[in-house]
Amino acid sequence: MIALKSAREIEVLRRANVIVAEILQELRGRVAPGVTTLELDQLAEELTYKKRAQPAFKGYTMAGRVFPRTLCVSVNDEIVHGIPSGRRLQKGDIVGLDFGVICDGYYGDAAITVGVGEVSEEAARLVRVTEAALGQGIEQLCEGKRLGDLAWAIQSTVESAGFSVVRAFVGHGIGRKLHEEPPVPNYGEPDRGLRLREGMVLAIEPMVTAGGYEVEIKDDGWTAVTKDGSLSAHFEHSVAITKNGPYILSRI
Ligand code: MG
Repeated sequence: MIALKSAREIEVLRRANVIVAEILQELRGRVAPGVTTLELDQLAEELTYKKRAQPAFKGYTMAGRVFPRTLCVSVNDEIVHGIPSGRRLQKGDIVGLDFGVICDGYYGDAAITVGVGEVSEEAARLVRVTEAALGQGIEQLCEGKRLGDLAWAIQSTVESAGFSVVRAFVGHGIGRKLHEEPPVPNYGEPDRGLRLREGMVLAIEPMVTAGGYEVEIKDDGWTAVTKDGSLSAHFEHSVAITKNGPYILSRI
């Protein structure tokens, strides 16, 4: 069942997502060669408590496995769900930062991909196209449009740039739970699927690769990588559908 949110609930979701956005902005400023992914995680956790919120990902359980950290950090061929570690970022890496909090019982969730120092032209284009695809998808979040319209806006933006959309992971509804109905695929056909309504709040999160869309999971049970070793980028916003169109809750 899809839980439609009242205007009051959307304002609480806005608070949670502003915290996420502020912390992602801070993390973006810390990304540099030599920084470990665990240092980014520790900063994210510290800032979360300082803002009187709780980490949403730490302790999250999927298929019996518990995610051990506050931040997901996915480097280069890692698509999503990378576990922070002693790995040091290197110049030329691209690093996906996916982050969520709980605030007053509601979840915030967003992601960015950041270059470490100067990156290759291909990597920069991948990051740019992924963010642009997210923007194109969000524009479709209006009453009366359908999930397929959003999916197609994302897929066509990505594929016309020569990149691939990951199929194995999708966006989701968000509210009192991190992952609510409906699933929100980043590929599909226009004018198909669920009709969008005012009060829906969706986390839209295209995951894009410079190669094929096949995915493998590393032995840690979490880290998803591209099967062909190609680079991957990920952007995410949590967005409310209002009568005036999309309201991007995680944008500051
Ligand atoms: Mg998400």
